[in-house]
Amino acid sequence: MSATLCGPDSAATVASHRCRVVEHSWVNRRYRHIRLEADAPIARITKPGQFYQLRCPATETEQPFLLRPMSVYGAGPEDGRIEFLYNVTGVGTRAMASLPVDGHMEIVGPLGNTFTFRPDFKRILVVARGVGLATMAPLIQQAADAGVAITAVMSARTREDLMEQEFLRGANAQVHSVFDADGSSSVDAVEVLMRNLIGQQRPDAVYTCGSHRLLMLLQRVLADYPEVVGEVAMEQRMACGMGVCLSCVRLFDCDGDKHFLRVCREGPVFSIREVVGEVEFG
Ligand SMILES: Cc1cc2nc3c(=O)[nH]c(=O)nc-3n(C[C@H](O)[C@H](O)[C@H](O)COP(=O)(O)OP(=O)(O)OC[C@H]3O[C@@H](n4cnc5c(N)ncnc54)[C@H](O)[C@@H]3O)c2cc1C
Repeated sequence: MSATLCGPDSAATVASHRCRVVEHSWVNRRYRHIRLEADAPIARITKPGQFYQLRCPATETEQPFLLRPMSVYGAGPEDGRIEFLYNVTGVGTRAMASLPVDGHMEIVGPLGNTFTFRPDFKRILVVARGVGLATMAPLIQQAADAGVAITAVMSARTREDLMEQEFLRGANAQVHSVFDADGSSSVDAVEVLMRNLIGQQRPDAVYTCGSHRLLMLLQRVLADYPEVVGEVAMEQRMACGMGVCLSCVRLFDCDGDKHFLRVCREGPVFSIREVVGEVEFG
């Protein structure tokens, strides 16, 4: 089973925080960046891969009911600062997009586990698509701070959707961009790229987020490289975000033992090798 499961003390730091909006702007036509200042020093207790549950504000026409899970995109440098990068898609994120600077928002967390990362790693390979970029950005910073070499494969619909600067945030990385628009993001093309990169560079760890297709592809490729750590940050519809409602369970295969695990509590980071892609009934 994944070594990154929540420890018993990880829940001890979970709390509800009232935050002030410090910055809030469009990154491109679909994504917004929000920087919050919390009422407590949460940056230092927030780790890459973890997420918060956000209480999106009510608007004149809409009242988001459940809290919305959002990966931490950045934490610090001041102790109370926390950032999210989000796609404006539905009721909650539309309402959130209307929050003014100096407005307030409640967030609950930090929730979930973190990636397996060791500062003595020589190189990591990060494979991200869409909103997965937000989840992986703190891991990129962690690797850059530790002097670990980074290879990044970024997948997007078009070049305009890529958000390379937002992903790397100044970190030095070898970047390979693939797009739906020119077919370079197809499973066949990306599999060739992955096999070349992993075969030639032999990264210590491969991480992914944002695409089930990429996840399954990496599971196939990593079967040939048992020594390489492989982890995925999973995105799953969830309600409570704290392990109570069980709405986010997924099936995992841990050395032949099948387990339903909660993405919010045992995850969201899991071993790529343990994800069960298709569930067969009967
Ligand atoms: C661990 C985790 C981290 C995430 N990190 C990010 C991030 O960094 N940036 C980002 O843009 N999005 C992220 N998402 C997805 C984000 O939670 C949804 O886009 C958001 O909840 C949509 O809310 P909505 O009200 O705008 O959409 P609606 O479709 O109106 O939402 C209706 C309901 O469905 C749920 N829901 C809808 N889409 C998703 C989804 N993809 N995953 C989980 N629940 C969903 C909502 O929480 C809500 O309860 C993350 C999801 C998870 C589980």
